[in-house]
Amino acid sequence: MKLEQMLKANPDEIRGEKVYEGKAKALFRTEDPSILLMEFKDDATAFDGKKKGTIVEKGYFNAHISANLNTYLEGQGIATHYLGLMRDRFHLVRHMDMFGLEVVVRNIAAGSLARRLGMDEGTVLPKPILEHYLKADELSDPWINAYHIAAMDLCTPEQLEAMEELAWKINLLLSERLERANLTLVDYKLEFGVDPDGVVRLGDEITPDTCRFWDSTTGDKLDKDRFRQDLGRVEDAYREVLDRLTESEA
Ligand code: UDP
Repeated sequence: MKLEQMLKANPDEIRGEKVYEGKAKALFRTEDPSILLMEFKDDATAFDGKKKGTIVEKGYFNAHISANLNTYLEGQGIATHYLGLMRDRFHLVRHMDMFGLEVVVRNIAAGSLARRLGMDEGTVLPKPILEHYLKADELSDPWINAYHIAAMDLCTPEQLEAMEELAWKINLLLSERLERANLTLVDYKLEFGVDPDGVVRLGDEITPDTCRFWDSTTGDKLDKDRFRQDLGRVEDAYREVLDRLTESEA
């Protein structure tokens, strides 16, 4: 089946063996070894999985939000794994080798940065900060630096440089795109991988699960912090982000 046909198919028709299941997503093989089916789930976890719950229709909202932002980034010349949105809550993505690293970029102090460095949440950082974390649930995703990455051979120095360069470009592009939707990009987590041709690409998802989005006018939190902090109206926040992205489409 060609990619265009696969995108129109019922996900059940092309769903092969499960290759990965995380907290919020599952990945399945397809008949094409270079293409995976990515399912966005309604499950939500926080605080290293200590808090568990379901956000109704989150899978649908996240699939559409991530599709919107990945399409935008691809259009701006960023290499991503995204190949297209299927019905409901599925993407087709390029099969990549993931680096097992999380890259966090921060424009405004919040979450673990505010806690760790004793900063007030909402402090605008004079310069954005980029951090690396090891993707390892059993170790609670420890904070690491380039020396740890080299010692653990997670990627080459060139690949690390490529990831960081992409992360900075993505920061400018996404901040600008979200501002058009009256959303402030506070911080976010990216994951990268390498495709069979050796190209470093953005993988994973760009959603209110992995980003902090604040209403630029009111400062309202429109992301997973509503779940983490029991702020209520969690589903509404995800729906609002999708609506605003759709309405502000160029
Ligand atoms: N983040 C994520 N997955 C993680 C850790 C963090 O998607 O395993 C995102 C989180 O949603 C936020 C940013 O990365 O947008 C920075 O998170 P932080 O380090 O502040 O941790 P938190 O306090 O959210 O646990």
